[in-house]
Amino acid sequence: MDCHGDKNDMKATLLAKSSSGDPYEVEFAICGEHVRVLCRCQAGVLQQMCKHKLAFITGDAKMLFDATQASMLAEIQSWPQFDGLRNRMGRYVRELGEMELEIAELAKRERGIKAQIGKNLAHGGYAS
Ligand SMILES: [Zn+2]
Repeated sequence: MDCHGDKNDMKATLLAKSSSGDPYEVEFAICGEHVRVLCRCQAGVLQQMCKHKLAFITGDAKMLFDATQASMLAEIQSWPQFDGLRNRMGRYVRELGEMELEIAELAKRERGIKAQIGKNLAHGGYAS
């Protein structure tokens, strides 16, 4: 993972559990004020969010393929640049949580309207 010519003095690679058995490499690199995170899973190589990145950003050691890497995970978490990433991720996760509630509410309204349509058509009570 390149840092486009910037100083890039901190790098670490963790192994994440995968459903296929072969672990995925998750790379962390300091790039200026930021931490870049790359995962080699199918979603990760497309630069999408994946559960491996999320787990390690939030410090979840259960995602480690090799439990002895817990100290490395803790060290990455202590990088000064990591605070910004952790804060940003917290905001994203909160936003996604709010969206999930809205989606659930919309799905409930959709079911309600469909149920009403079904009743009205069955009983002919759609005039009102
Ligand atoms: Zn991944």
